[in-house]
Amino acid sequence: MPFKSGFITLIGTPNVGKSTLLNALLGQKISIVSSRPQTTRNRILGVKHVPGGQFIFLDTPGILEPKGLLNKSMVQISLKSIAEVNLIILMIEPFSVRPAISEDLRFRLIKAGRPVFLIFNKTDLIDKKNLLPLMEQATHILPFKEIIPISALTGEGLDVLEKCILQSLPEGPPYFPEDMVTDLSERFLVGEMIREKVFRLTSQEVPYGVAVTVETFKPREDKPIIHIRATIHVERDSQKGILIGKQGKMLKTIGQQARQDMETLLGNQVFLELWVRVEKNWGNDPNLLRRFGYGE
Ligand code: GDP
Ligand code: MG
Repeated sequence: MPFKSGFITLIGTPNVGKSTLLNALLGQKISIVSSRPQTTRNRILGVKHVPGGQFIFLDTPGILEPKGLLNKSMVQISLKSIAEVNLIILMIEPFSVRPAISEDLRFRLIKAGRPVFLIFNKTDLIDKKNLLPLMEQATHILPFKEIIPISALTGEGLDVLEKCILQSLPEGPPYFPEDMVTDLSERFLVGEMIREKVFRLTSQEVPYGVAVTVETFKPREDKPIIHIRATIHVERDSQKGILIGKQGKMLKTIGQQARQDMETLLGNQVFLELWVRVEKNWGNDPNLLRRFGYGE
């Protein structure tokens, strides 16, 4: 059997479960997840090693109308990924087909000229008998190479998905070493873990006003502990107040939860020092966007 490998992009509307699927396939959390749209801001690369093959997944921000510079950069990341891959996985929710696949997206997919899998995610939420008509409707929209119902949350259908991916990929070398799961640095991942807790614990505009930088990431000399110092940047004083919370309670909870994730990731005890800083309107400042890792 020849070895097969290739790049696979996960696309779909915000909140459809792209990051959840990536983490489920990898068996490790590298992409942060929340119930809010637009949690993922960068291109997240994850490598899955299977007997006879290597899948290189690109998790992307959702495709939506760009508003502001940050969103523009996120949509660019998603659309760029379509043209550069061996396989496109388009994820939609199992409630309807038409609105989820816009005319514009259909056109872009045809233009990309790559095989496309259509995945109905979140099938744990529906009566399975509703699936067949949806799958039938989908065949009229695009010549999808496969149409597969899954639940990224329960793991249902993931074995079928993996089999189909292996079949579809071209012959190719293992691009990444066997022990590599992502190209993202541990420093980036710990910053993302903090951002995820902000998405989960605060509401309204606060999560969207937040960026995280990690200034210190080093083992302590006296003890087997990793010292991490990070800053949560916000756009407004009011957001700073919410993030810190009454008597620092919110910041403490964010720190505690993020630290647990970090310790799982790093397999080490972590001492986490968290700061909050106001950077007025950073979301529309090209220099700050670059500094926070959202540049082109
Ligand atoms: P993304 O924006 O496409 O990356 O979506 P996320 O992976 O961040 O997931 C958005 C929300 O949908 C989170 O609350 C997930 O827990 C939830 N979710 C993802 N997959 C499933 C699924 O298969 N079933 C259910 N019920 N919820 C899911
Ligand atoms: Mg995501």
